[in-house]
Amino acid sequence: SVFAYAPAPESRSIVDIAPSYGLFIDGEFTDAADGKVFKTVSPSSEEVLSEIAQAGEADVDRAVKAARKAFEKWSALPGSERAKYLFRIARIIQERSRELAVLETLDNGKPIKETRDADLPLVAAHFFYYAGWADKLDHAGYGANPAPLGVAGQVIPWNFPLLMLAWKIAPALATGNTVVLKPAETTPLSALFFADICRQAGLPKGVVNILPGYGDAGAALVAHPDVNKVAFTGSTAVGKEIARTVAGTRKKVTLELGGKGANIVFDDAPIDQAVEGIVNGIFFNQGQVCCAGSRLLVQESIEEELLDSLKRRLSTLRLGDPLDKNTDIGAINSEEQLSRITSLVERGEAEGAERWSPACDLPESGYWFAPTLFTNVTQAHTVARDEIFGPVLSVLTFRTPDEAVAKANNTPYGLSAGIWTEKGSRILAVANKLRAGVVWSNTFNKFDPTSPFGGYKESGFGREGGRHGLEAYLDV
Ligand code: NAD
Repeated sequence: SVFAYAPAPESRSIVDIAPSYGLFIDGEFTDAADGKVFKTVSPSSEEVLSEIAQAGEADVDRAVKAARKAFEKWSALPGSERAKYLFRIARIIQERSRELAVLETLDNGKPIKETRDADLPLVAAHFFYYAGWADKLDHAGYGANPAPLGVAGQVIPWNFPLLMLAWKIAPALATGNTVVLKPAETTPLSALFFADICRQAGLPKGVVNILPGYGDAGAALVAHPDVNKVAFTGSTAVGKEIARTVAGTRKKVTLELGGKGANIVFDDAPIDQAVEGIVNGIFFNQGQVCCAGSRLLVQESIEEELLDSLKRRLSTLRLGDPLDKNTDIGAINSEEQLSRITSLVERGEAEGAERWSPACDLPESGYWFAPTLFTNVTQAHTVARDEIFGPVLSVLTFRTPDEAVAKANNTPYGLSAGIWTEKGSRILAVANKLRAGVVWSNTFNKFDPTSPFGGYKESGFGREGGRHGLEAYLDV
């Protein structure tokens, strides 16, 4: 890993968080036009981390104008010049990775182990990867001299704040577009640090603009007439609203939405390895992952053995201070998300599914939810159908591969799935029948900038990552 050298436990003193931050427009930090601010809190302690300028419609307009102006020069630069900026940004991210990992953990609540070993290495890798494409677009398979679209309006969620920013900004800049990005209201800090990194890298003013704020700012950005491309990651409900807004305009749009991924374990799977994959699949980032393996489909003959071993493993997970390098389960991102998880879990119990959690003490302050298993689940249960976006796994069984495929596909979503078996022919046969954008075999939640990522059905459309990720930002 890129971060093998990073000593831990990390301490909060590594990062210098200012008491307040402005919006980042045209290369400067500035107040919102109407002077509004909001607070960002640490979900593990409820401590106020900073006060943030809150973007409104006038700020969106100002940022889009800056991005439009910057577009003329930025898009005219040779790809090799744009690449230099992206490589510089990637290297600064590596240099400041410990600071960024601590910051992300404070603002989001996820364990430092994850920000240090997963989020940050992937963030840097995305900038390196797309830097490499910037002078090779003629070879991307989209014809000679594919043209950038113009100003990209990008709206991202709170579950992987910096990684979602990287997925959006790196391909946009590599292809010659300029950007106005709105981070989620509960996790604005790493995007503002990224704005500072853009300045450090000498990126021309207006190429990247960052507008912290709420859904109204996101809606104004998506609707702005001078935005040419909309990229959204978030809930299916908001994704549909955005699709309605851009319908009838000539804006290009990609939507990365929710999921209800199935992790399918056949009776010949190596059980210990499968248990690790199941745990990673649903408890990584407290299950607040769009491609989480939130449904476990286990072959009937090994149900008991697998569940025993899974419960033993869950009893060893350490929940607590996300800055402690030994922590496996951190805090839920917000009080609102915690109450969403709680009400879905209560509904699961009320509908007759059996709830189980390992013994675990929850800290007094902050937003916490114990790892939870539901057994005796049928396909009709809410916990088998709705995205919970929390550390909650619903267990269902199957007898034959066809039944496994039918149950896995019985969802309006289609983002991810996992297959656990020793049999290569079965992996291929089952994977081909799964209606999911990514299918992992004998592993789960593995990401790489070279691989396109995105959904079928209500999980959205368009792909981010890999060569396919360039297409969303080019007129081909
Ligand atoms: P959300 O849709 O409420 O918010 C996402 C972002 O959209 C935030 O920045 C928010 O401020 C903004 N927003 C809210 N209303 C808006 C509107 N009307 N117009 C424009 N922008 C608006 O989602 P959330 O609760 O923050 O995130 C969790 C959801 O995101 C889950 O459903 C999860 O599955 C999904 N998600 C999907 C992926 C993926 O890649 N497919 C990745 C991460 C999260």
